Amino acid sequence: MCILSLMPHVIVSPCIGVKDQACTEVCPVECIYDGGDQFLIHPDECIDCGACVPACPVEAIYSLDETPEKWAAFITKNARFYR
Ligand code: SF4
Repeated sequence: MCILSLMPHVIVSPCIGVKDQACTEVCPVECIYDGGDQFLIHPDECIDCGACVPACPVEAIYSLDETPEKWAAFITKNARFYR
């Protein structure tokens, strides 16, 4: 199975250097982890609730289908961190 098909939500570029943590506070399953330069969502643990999207002050979180093309590389970055 393609690992990208398992990505419900992803965190992209604006998180880098910010790491506000508002997302980690609202996530009901605590599946957002410190990935070094940014936070990253665990693809197997995320229940796709969407609560983290409006919580992010820099609009860095998107559902897979709505991730802007310019940040498509972050889909792979999120997935590979946990593989
Ligand atoms: Fe957590 Fe929901 Fe965001 Fe997934 S979509 S990371 S479960 S808050």
